[in-house]
Amino acid sequence: MTKSISCADAGKDCGWSATANTEDELLAKVTEHVKADHKEIELNDKNISNIKSLIKEI
Ligand SMILES: [Zn+2]
Repeated sequence: MTKSISCADAGKDCGWSATANTEDELLAKVTEHVKADHKEIELNDKNISNIKSLIKEI
């Protein structure tokens, strides 16, 4: 099962998306992207659980 996430799913005007084999790997990619392009998003527990809720299995 591949896990997938995209910024568009989070309502962001951003074409970024990523896939990974594990949730941890995907969250690492998300963290990298948020730090690079969405500095306004604080990676606190609440936002991380929101991000996790957007992860889809493809
Ligand atoms: Zn983005």
